[in-house]
Amino acid sequence: MSSATEHTSSWYAATRKIERTWPPLQEALEADICIVGAGFTGVNSAIELAQRGFKVALLEARRVGWGASGRNGGELIRGIGHDLDQFHNTLGEEGVMALKKMGTEALEIVKERIQTHQIDCDLVLGYADLGTNAKHRKALDEELESLHAINYPHPLRILEPSELKQQVVDSDFYTGALVDEGSGHLHPLNLLLGEVQVAEQLGVKIFEQSAVIELIKGDRPLVKTAQGSIHCDRVILACNGYLNPDLEPWLGGKVLPAGSYVVATEPLPDALCSQLMPGRKAVADMRTTLDYYRISQDNRLIFGGLCTYTGRDPKNIAAALLPNIEKVFPQLDKVKIDYQWGGMLGIGANRLPQIGQLPDCPAIYFAQAYAGHGVNATHLAAKVLAEKISTENDQRYALFAKVNHMTFPGGRHLRAPLLATGMLWHRIKELF
Ligand SMILES: Cc1cc2nc3c(=O)[nH]c(=O)nc-3n(C[C@H](O)[C@H](O)[C@H](O)COP(=O)(O)OP(=O)(O)OC[C@H]3O[C@@H](n4cnc5c(N)ncnc54)[C@H](O)[C@@H]3O)c2cc1C
Repeated sequence: MSSATEHTSSWYAATRKIERTWPPLQEALEADICIVGAGFTGVNSAIELAQRGFKVALLEARRVGWGASGRNGGELIRGIGHDLDQFHNTLGEEGVMALKKMGTEALEIVKERIQTHQIDCDLVLGYADLGTNAKHRKALDEELESLHAINYPHPLRILEPSELKQQVVDSDFYTGALVDEGSGHLHPLNLLLGEVQVAEQLGVKIFEQSAVIELIKGDRPLVKTAQGSIHCDRVILACNGYLNPDLEPWLGGKVLPAGSYVVATEPLPDALCSQLMPGRKAVADMRTTLDYYRISQDNRLIFGGLCTYTGRDPKNIAAALLPNIEKVFPQLDKVKIDYQWGGMLGIGANRLPQIGQLPDCPAIYFAQAYAGHGVNATHLAAKVLAEKISTENDQRYALFAKVNHMTFPGGRHLRAPLLATGMLWHRIKELF
């Protein structure tokens, strides 16, 4: 579906606004910071640190945005992590409240970056969580209450099934919606390519086709690629679902790659778009294996879902996703699919983004495991890391670093089947 030198066969790659390549690293460089991985985490860490005066080099194994950041559903959704109240014992009420507020700040960082640098990435505000059963309907009320408790600064409203059909999705599949006018959707690859240009203008040295193959730990780590190396004060590992566990086994044990898949239909007539999704909001339902979808700027339904833990893509992504589309929109039973693709997201056991330092080498930082909420959370993680590394503020970093992240049992080969069994159990529970 993609080669080492190309992006995936996604609609995003086909409609990217910036056609740039960067050379591979072919020398021995010195830098203050070396960042490994040029997705949202890596590129935004580069921006934040360069803005604070650091000399930064960014190494990407393939192309900038080749990973999940250039392939995702494009949904910009408030919040980081999941069920943050689970961290009360570790972080106290104040700590949990700080995390909840950072979930709103994360949204604003993205919007501000787009606005300040005039990044052309089709940002549309408006998002809805959709319930599919009575339990979800109750959970929507609870979510509304908890957003009010943090003074969420954007309009929110609950819709009953008849209202949501008129205002959000013309489907009988849902039991209620929570509409959030502060979240929304965008073209993620164009956002990332806009951001990498910002990084470059700030003096960041960018290298593609430069997979890191060895990390030599120490006070000043040495980062090696096939044809070059970087000696630096600090490293940031920003590889997320694409981290090769052999490069850093301790970190690799904490994040599980999971596949998620997306299709883009042929462009639909204006009237049909307005009927299917009046208001053109992004939506996601609340099931464990959820559907997420929206209408693009050029009138395509961008529909994502499925979940795999085997590292193998479905043979035919369109055939696997079409029944899900037809279940929501029976009126689209003959729709043509123009693009289909998938990517790897990184999942941690407690679903809080993992931000920290390697225990055996504090000069090496990492940020990963955003599950399906990475578009906003990556931007926040980058800021939190830069605050810590620049010694501007380490309190926010300390909250993340204090949380213990379980190593998935089963070693490299048994992890995925074990998780698949666990997820199946969650899906079975949803049926009752
Ligand atoms: C199909 C799909 C749909 C999604 N939908 C949404 C959504 O709608 N909303 C949302 O908020 N989130 C969504 N997500 C999650 C979100 O995309 C990710 O959480 C986020 O993009 C992670 O960004 P990242 O920079 O940490 O990792 P990535 O974007 O995956 O980047 C990691 C990079 O590291 C590079 N790399 C790996 N190893 C090395 C090495 N040794 N040397 C150099 N480089 C290396 C990889 O090539 C890759 O480019 C989705 C994810 C997928 C896959």
